[in-house]
Amino acid sequence: MNQNQQLFAAAQKHIPGGVNSPVRAFGSVGGTPRFFKKGEGAYVWDADDQRYIDYVGSWGPLILGHTHPKVLEAVIQAAKNGMSFGAPTAAEVELADLICEMLPSIEQVRLVSSGTEATMSAIRLARGFTGRDKLVKFEGCYHGHADSLLVKAGSGLLTFGNPSSAGVPASVAADTLVLPYNDVAALEALFIEMGDKIAAIIVEPIAGNMNMVQASPEFVQGMRQLTEKYGAVLIYDEVMTGFRVDLHCTQGLHGVKPDLTCLGKVVGGGMPLAAFGGRSDIMSKLAPLGPVYQAGTLSGNPVAVAAGLATLKLISEDGFFNQLSIQTEKLCNGLIQIAKETNTIFSAQSSGGMFGFYFSENIPQSFADVMNSDRSKFNAFFHGMLKQGVYLAPSAFEAGFVSAAHSDQDILFTLEAAKKVFMQIK
Ligand code: PLP
Repeated sequence: MNQNQQLFAAAQKHIPGGVNSPVRAFGSVGGTPRFFKKGEGAYVWDADDQRYIDYVGSWGPLILGHTHPKVLEAVIQAAKNGMSFGAPTAAEVELADLICEMLPSIEQVRLVSSGTEATMSAIRLARGFTGRDKLVKFEGCYHGHADSLLVKAGSGLLTFGNPSSAGVPASVAADTLVLPYNDVAALEALFIEMGDKIAAIIVEPIAGNMNMVQASPEFVQGMRQLTEKYGAVLIYDEVMTGFRVDLHCTQGLHGVKPDLTCLGKVVGGGMPLAAFGGRSDIMSKLAPLGPVYQAGTLSGNPVAVAAGLATLKLISEDGFFNQLSIQTEKLCNGLIQIAKETNTIFSAQSSGGMFGFYFSENIPQSFADVMNSDRSKFNAFFHGMLKQGVYLAPSAFEAGFVSAAHSDQDILFTLEAAKKVFMQIK
C-alpha cells in the first residue's frame, strides 16, 4: 500500500468514511482519495510526494493559489496578535466596509464561519422579515447542509420538497419548494399559486454544484420581478461565485441587486470565514437590533478576517479578473479543441476563474441536462488526469477553479495531459 492508501485505511478507524466532508472520499469516481501535505501556487503534493496541478483550490477559496506570500504574512501577523477574542476588532470593520464597497447591494453585512451558516442565517432572516415560511430553491443547487436546504423535488407539478438526507424532518422539508433551474414558467406558476406565503428565493446565480450551469437572462429577470411583485426576499447564494467570477460577483455580471447575498470561500482567503448581507431594512432585523437571532463564537475571527482582507485587496488590483478570465478561457477553449481533434463529445464554459466541462454535446441548462452527460466518461477522464498529475474535482457534479497562480505552462501541461487521456478513453 502506498502512503495515500495507508492513510485512508487509518482515517476510517476514527473518522466516518475517513473524511470530514463526503465528496473528499472519491465515492463518485472510485479509488483512493489523495491526502495532501503541501500546497504552493498552482500545485499540491500528496502523501506519496506526487505533485498535481490543482483545479480544485480547496473547492474555490484559493483564487490566488496556495500559500500566497501576502495572505500568509497577514495570517501570521494576525495570529501573533491573538487567535480569537470573541469581541469586536478593527479589522472586521475594515472587511465589512470593503465588502459593502465592492457589492452595492450590501448595505450591512454580518460575518460567520461557513457558507452553510451564511445561507441558514439568511433564510431565517428572510422568514423573520417577511413573516412567511415557504422557501423556493432550485434542483441541483447546493446551499450548504442546513435542514431546510437538504431537500429534493417531490413528485407533482408544484414540488413540495422531500428530505434529501436522513434526519431532516418531513415537516421542515415541506416548507421548501423545489423547482427546475432556468424554468421561468414553473416559477411564475408557483408565485401565482402561493406568492403570499413565500419568504424567499435562494439561488446559485451561476450554479456550481451540478457542475457549472448559468442562469439565463430571463430566469434572472423573472426571479427579481416576481420577488419584488410578491414581497419575497431574493437571496443570491454567491458562496462559490462571490469574488470568483468577477470582482462584483455574479450580481455585477447580471446587473441585478439581490435583497440578500451569501458569501464564503474567496471572501475568507482559505480560512473559515463567510458572510451574509444586503438591504439594511432587512439586516436591521438581526439581533441585537431586531428579533431574528444569529450568533457565533468564532464569527469575525481575526486570523480569518486577515486572510480575507489580504485576498480581497489583491483581487482588487487592476486587471486581475481580466487576466484570470483569459487563463480560464485558454483552458476551456484548449479542451474543446482537443475534444474536436479526438472526436470526443464534449462541451465547456467559464466565468472569471470558474469553469465547467461536460461529456455532452451541449452546455447544460438544468440538473436534468447535467444528469444526461456521460458520467462514466468523466470518471475515466478524472482518473486519467490524476495519473498525469492534474487534480480535478472528484465528481462530475462540481465546477472547477483556475487561480492567479496557474501559468501558461500549467495550462499547456494540462492540455497535453488531456489530449493523451482523451485518446485513451475514446
Ligand atoms: N453555497 C454554495 C453555493 C456552496 O457551493 C457551498 C459549498 O460548497 C455552500 C453554500 C456551503 O458552504 P460551506 O461548505 O462553507 O458550509
